[in-house]
Amino acid sequence: MGLEKTLVLLKPCTVNRGLIGEIIGIFEKKGLRIAGMKMMQLDDAILEEHYAHLVGRPFFPGLKRSMMATPVVALALEGVDAIEVVRQMAGPTNGRKALPGTIRGDYSVSGQQNIVHASDGPETAKAELARFFKPEEILEYSLCTMGSLYASDEY
Ligand code: UDP
Ligand code: MG
Repeated sequence: MGLEKTLVLLKPCTVNRGLIGEIIGIFEKKGLRIAGMKMMQLDDAILEEHYAHLVGRPFFPGLKRSMMATPVVALALEGVDAIEVVRQMAGPTNGRKALPGTIRGDYSVSGQQNIVHASDGPETAKAELARFFKPEEILEYSLCTMGSLYASDEY
C-alpha cells in the first residue's frame, strides 16, 4: 500500500473516437490525481521500446501503425495502489472479453483498439513514466480532497 504513480496512454482509437475527455473523466471520478498530462506523437523508436515484449509478433507492425495514427495522450496518475487500480479499471486486453464496467469492456470491441495502455507493475510503471515524461513534467501538488478520498491511515 502507499501512493504510487502509473502511466496511462489514451490510444489513437480514443483520440479518433472523441473519447479523450470521457476516459480522463473516469480516472478523475475514481479519485486518481493527474500528476502529468500531455499529447505526444509516437514513433517507431519509442514503440519498439515500449512494446519490446511484442516485437516479432505477427500483429506488431499493425500495432505500431495503430499507435502512430494520431498523437496519444499520456497521463501520469497517482493514488494508493494506483498501478493495480488502473489495470483493473482498464480490464483485460481484449475488449470483447473485458467485462462491462471496465474501460475496455465498456468502450471497445477489439483486441488491439482497446482505448488505453496501463502499466502492469511497479518496475514497468517506473520505466514507462520515465519513457514518456521528463521529471519536471510530473507535478507534485496535493489534492485538497485527500481527506475525502482516503482514511488518514491509508496514504
Ligand atoms: N495487442 C494486439 N494483438 C494481440 C495482443 C496485443 O494488437 O494479440 C496489442 C493491444 O493493443 C495491447 C498491446 O498490444 O493493448 C499490448 O499488449 P499486452 O499483451 O501488453 O496487453 P495490455 O498490457 O495492453 O493489456
Ligand atoms: Mg502490457
